[in-house]
Amino acid sequence: MKTRGALLWEPGTRSGWSVEEIELDPPKEHEALIKLAASGVCHSDDHLDTGDIPLPWAPVLGGHEGAGVVEEVGPGVTAVKPGDHVVLSFLPSCGRCRMCVKGKSNMCELGAGVLAGVAPDGTHRVHARGQGVGCMSYLGTFAPYVVAPLDAVIPIPEDMPLDKAALIGCGVPTGWGSSVYAAEIELGDTVVVVGTGGVGMNAVQGARHKGARNVVAVDPAPFKREKAVEFGATHVAKDYEEAGQIVESLTNGQGADRVIITVGVVTGDLMNPAQEMTRRGGTMVLTGAAPVLQRDVPFDLFTFAMSGKRLQGSLYGTTTSRTDVPLLADLYLRGELKLDELITRTYSWTTSTRPSGTCTTARTCVA
Ligand SMILES: [Zn+2]
Ligand SMILES: [Zn+2]
Repeated sequence: MKTRGALLWEPGTRSGWSVEEIELDPPKEHEALIKLAASGVCHSDDHLDTGDIPLPWAPVLGGHEGAGVVEEVGPGVTAVKPGDHVVLSFLPSCGRCRMCVKGKSNMCELGAGVLAGVAPDGTHRVHARGQGVGCMSYLGTFAPYVVAPLDAVIPIPEDMPLDKAALIGCGVPTGWGSSVYAAEIELGDTVVVVGTGGVGMNAVQGARHKGARNVVAVDPAPFKREKAVEFGATHVAKDYEEAGQIVESLTNGQGADRVIITVGVVTGDLMNPAQEMTRRGGTMVLTGAAPVLQRDVPFDLFTFAMSGKRLQGSLYGTTTSRTDVPLLADLYLRGELKLDELITRTYSWTTSTRPSGTCTTARTCVA
């Protein structure tokens, strides 16, 4: 079918998104055509434009946070049917590879190909100006329709509002799971969340779900500090220094049990101050994306080893999308997960203005 999509023709050059006609192939075996209700704008989309995540190929159809209704399925597909409400997961889970069967589906082998620029079978589903278009995360939700591999299609209850559901395909589980799984928060912990944007806000929510006693949200933006309190932060700080003082007084100088880094663009200098704030035996979680070529990290290795600290990387919040996406939808429907409050601005698909660097075309923008 002919439709429209937002493409980057020159990734890494900050040239911005071009909204233009695209041609979408029908779904093949193990695929479904989804009519999207909403798409989130994730910082990772912007990383493609800025070059923090370099792409060696072009063009790319952006967007990887979407929810909608199944319109059509490929030959032999029985896992979903037209009319099903689904979330598109930015990382697929095949259910068969070693990591999937070990319950670590965020490490699914298929996930390694989400930025390869082709569908899992090595071909293109989207075409523009007579050439194949790569889709972010095998999806490309900056379009009204997506042909997605079933491994990334997760059914949700029909009473879950789709515009909110779009957020639980990437940003929400990434932050929430950083607290709930990656940080292994325990009841009564003191937790610091560094950077409370769309991901960090959900780390704050996750910390409260796991019973953290103190949740210190660190963000230079006053608006985000205010919002963090709404999401469950017990304390706020504008920078590391202020956070360090709060943590010291809360823990009698022992340090935080967990420090979770959810900054939009992580630089090496953010790591050692996080360690200084972490108690002996405590855990640091690194969730935010650094520029791909970032290598230098000044880090007190002696203290790190001698005080038995742990540094844990986290992709997709270390969640298992098949179970956690429906769980997050259920928590929202029970009033135990805030999603409405994450949405700071909504754009219609047809907007031609460009309100900010990344929000040209998508419908939902995260705090
Ligand atoms: Zn994302
Ligand atoms: Zn797998």
